[in-house]
Amino acid sequence: MGIFKPTMYKKNIFDINYEKLKEMGIKCLVFDLDNTLGLIDQPKCPRKTKQLIKSLQDDFLILICSNNSKGRINKYLKDLGIGGVSFSMKPFTRGLRIIKKKYNLKKKEMVIIGDQIVTDILAGKRFKIMTILVDPLGEKDLKITGLNRKVEAKIIKKYEKRGLFKRGSYYE
Ligand SMILES: [Mg+2]
Repeated sequence: MGIFKPTMYKKNIFDINYEKLKEMGIKCLVFDLDNTLGLIDQPKCPRKTKQLIKSLQDDFLILICSNNSKGRINKYLKDLGIGGVSFSMKPFTRGLRIIKKKYNLKKKEMVIIGDQIVTDILAGKRFKIMTILVDPLGEKDLKITGLNRKVEAKIIKKYEKRGLFKRGSYYE
């Protein structure tokens, strides 16, 4: 299995089988923010996302792990009443390490859910936790992400050739 291949791949956060995650022993959902929970230019959490997060809070500890600034993520954290880490430096494991320690979690209890292979998924794989890739909500990204997308496109092309991964071929 390729090092960039996510454990699961879903169209968006609403398509994830959270019941299955619960059965698998997952206790903590770590979400990326931009293009996973909301669009990059959406300062407030979308209502539909908020409803989903609220509905999951009985079963999971829900956190945000974002490479974006504190100012950006704080509005979402406040709005959702959850915790999280800014400047998490994905694909490095900084954010995930902080979360694991702070909330006293085991790696097998954590999953990272995000829209970027070269940051979210790679960070999760390096940290050896479950990873779920979702398609990006919008086309607009952080400047740095533009470069990541180019790298990502190359990886996906290669994986497609090997029959490992195909954009739009969702799996659990
Ligand atoms: Mg993102």
